[in-house]
Amino acid sequence: MLEPSPLPPLRLTAPALTARLDGPITLSTLARLVASGAAVSKADLVQAAGLARTTVSTGVDELLDRGVLRLAGTRRTPGRGRPADRLALSPRGGHVLVADLGAHGAHLCVVDLSQRVRAHAHLDIEISDGPEVALAAIEAHLGTLRAGVAGDDPVRAVVIGVPGPVDGQLGTPVRPPIMSGWHGYPVSARLRRTFGCPTLLENDVNLRALGEARALPADQAPLLFVKVGTGIGGGLITDAGQLHHGADGAAGDIGHVRVRGGPDVRCVCGNVGCIEALASASAVARRLGEELGGEPTIADVRALVARGDPVVLRLVREAAELIGEVVATLVHFYNPARVTIGGSVAAASDELLAGIRSVVYQRALPLATRNLVLANSVLGEFAGIAGATVLGIERVLSPEGIGVLTAGA
Ligand SMILES: [Zn+2]
Repeated sequence: MLEPSPLPPLRLTAPALTARLDGPITLSTLARLVASGAAVSKADLVQAAGLARTTVSTGVDELLDRGVLRLAGTRRTPGRGRPADRLALSPRGGHVLVADLGAHGAHLCVVDLSQRVRAHAHLDIEISDGPEVALAAIEAHLGTLRAGVAGDDPVRAVVIGVPGPVDGQLGTPVRPPIMSGWHGYPVSARLRRTFGCPTLLENDVNLRALGEARALPADQAPLLFVKVGTGIGGGLITDAGQLHHGADGAAGDIGHVRVRGGPDVRCVCGNVGCIEALASASAVARRLGEELGGEPTIADVRALVARGDPVVLRLVREAAELIGEVVATLVHFYNPARVTIGGSVAAASDELLAGIRSVVYQRALPLATRNLVLANSVLGEFAGIAGATVLGIERVLSPEGIGVLTAGA
């Protein structure tokens, strides 16, 4: 088990306020502002929520009564006023369990409602073993992690990310190319039964996109996250800082965009010429095998990239050029403030980023690139758990969730 890793403060959004306020919306707004670190006193909340002093005061008192918030000392106020009570989420408010699955492993963690990572671990699993085997291992390890830190504090939500398309409403993967046996499997329903709380299923790259966007200043959205790993995937964050799912949840699934003029390589999806089949880390590994013989793995590619091996760097640059073409198209279409490149190859060297950047700035028009930031992920392998943390806490502190939230119950 690894040491708990501190995440940076993550911004949480609050529900839009209307003239006709009802209790749960007010409570949700106040709790989320405290949970995001945007407000630590009643005076902060009045300013941040734009609510009347009496509304804030009544709401805070109710959250204190219910044990959702607690008093955490005082804060000196400017001028001669008495020190203000400092508000914090109660550690008794419970936990969110997070599982971020990749093709060959999963990051698991237990976070509290103040965004503190209480425990985390990396679990070796093969997603191709199917849902029964993988989820049984994840449930067992989440249970162990939770028992180690949480005592009897309740689990409030479970968030699970998987490397494939999902139907978030049904809580099932939908024809995921690299997850054989998972199509239509009721992942959310199973974990909801196991842990007795709301469960959210999300695509892994969407989680990374959300985590990344919420760890950065608000002006870095809209944000496009491109993950180059076993496959290639994308996630879109709107200028309001929310995930853009599209009508059916498929938005951002860019791995199967066809590259015209590329070699006719068969993709895992059954089509030929997909960007994922030509420029993912697996594709680079395959090409390396063709040039040098043997069957290099993605881990080999990563190691060779980090070492600056000239053959693999050439292959990475060629991949970057193809990915850059796709990203340039997306930049025109979506005009993001930031494009984040993630995945193990990007983490091992700046070569991939540099290659993508040069094509994007060459191809895209000045208006779309004038203020564009194109950078590697700031959270690296923790981007997924950061996004899952945001989703989980926002669910627990949503108007629906907070209406029933009483600490210790
Ligand atoms: Zn494909």
